[in-house]
This record gives sequence, structure tokens and C-alpha cells, in this order.
Amino acid sequence: MSRLDAGRHRGPEIARASLKDRLQQVSARINTSALKAGRAASEVQLLAVSKTQPAAILREAYALGLRHFGENYLKEALEKQAQLCDLEGLVWHFIGPIQSNKCRLIAEHFDWVHSVDRIEVARRLNDMRPPDKGPLNVCIQVNVSLETTKHGILPEALPALFSSVRVLPRLRVRGLMTIPAPPSQADLDPALPFRSLRRLMKGLEAPLDTLSMGMSEDLELAIHEGATWVRVGTKLFGERPR
Ligand SMILES: *Cc1c(COP(=O)(O)O)cnc(C)c1O
Repeated sequence: MSRLDAGRHRGPEIARASLKDRLQQVSARINTSALKAGRAASEVQLLAVSKTQPAAILREAYALGLRHFGENYLKEALEKQAQLCDLEGLVWHFIGPIQSNKCRLIAEHFDWVHSVDRIEVARRLNDMRPPDKGPLNVCIQVNVSLETTKHGILPEALPALFSSVRVLPRLRVRGLMTIPAPPSQADLDPALPFRSLRRLMKGLEAPLDTLSMGMSEDLELAIHEGATWVRVGTKLFGERPR
């Protein structure tokens, strides 16, 4: 093999090695923080947030054992799903803001939706869920930040939304999700949003098993407060293209 060929062959090798390294680092962070929190590492699942990443990268992640992928943009997600339809056991999670006119395709093509924050969307997802599939797993997205952000229901409106969503037969409410605003004040406890979400779920007094919280930078805090899904993009796949 010429030096040129050797160089050419090294590219993908390096890329694969680094995804593998990053996965090991993220897994180690999850395991360590679960242990510190006195929890079993198996209670915390890794959701690989693959928005903007090409299907080839997801295929590599699959080869490394990842099965759960989180996508934010419907069109992009559907394209990747088509490209990866030969892979068995993939589980697709929709984690982005939901427009009502996208509900049918989301209900047809995803296994989980983490970002339900209003009853109209919940009803549409319920109505559009194909009968040959099991109930759609959903989380209610809550805005627990003290800062104003666009998405998520406010804590005081959560109980009413939960009561309306839990009776929809084609949805299975699993728990709550949040994306905290970046901590703005140094003296603000960055674990607070995660603690609030845990308390809100407890307050619903229902058999819920899911707290979707924690991302690349703060997954330790979230796991300490009870996260069952951490949604990790950057620390797994590197900086996003675009
Ligand atoms: C992009 C995104 C993530 C991942 O963020 P990183 O900081 O890249 O880990 C998690 N959750 C949601 C809802 C996202 O949109």
C-alpha cells in the first residue's frame, strides 16, 4: 500500500476511533455520576442526540451499540430513518418543538416524543398514532427555568395538562422533560431546574418512570437529581455541523 493509500485509509479509522472514545467518555461520566448518586448505572439511559449528523455517523454509533437516537427536525429525521431502515432495533425519539401539522408523521415514525407541551399536540399525536403500533411514549416538557424560554408548559399548568394527556389511549405518558435555560447568575444553583422537575413528577402522584433531563454539559447534575434519560449530542458526536 502506498503512503497515499495509507493516509486515505486513516481518515475513517480516526473518525471511528474518536466516536468510540467519546462514547466511552460519556458512558464513564454516566456511570460515575450514577454511582455517586447511589443509583444503578442501568437506571440512566443514553439518548444519542443526532440532529444535523449524517446517517453514516448514526450507523457508526449503531455499530458501537447505540440504539436510541434523538432528533429535532422532522424532515431530516425521516431522511435518516429511510437511509437506516436496514438496521434492526433502532428506537427514534422526537425531542424538538412540535408544530401541529407535523403530528401525523411524528406519530407514525417515532417511538418516543419528549417535547409534548400542549393538549392540542397531545390529542393530535393520539389521533394519528397508527393502530398497528403500540401507544406512543411521551414526556411532558416543562419550563422550570426562572428565565423565560419559549417551550415547555409552566409548572403551575402541569397538573391540568397531565390529567388531560394521561387519558389519551394511544399515548403512554412516561414522565417529564426539561431543557433548562443556561444558568445566568453565578449564585444560582444549577441543579435547581433538575430538582424542580423531579419534585413536579413526584407531585403528580402517578406511576411515571421517566425524567428526561441533562445534556452534554450538565448530565452529572441531572443524574444526581434522578435523570433516567440524558440527551447527549456534542460530547458524543462532536460540534454540530451547520
Ligand atoms: C440538541 C439537544 C440536546 C443535546 O445538546 P448537547 O449540548 O449537544 O448535548 C439535548 N436535548 C435537546 C432537546 C436538544 O435539542
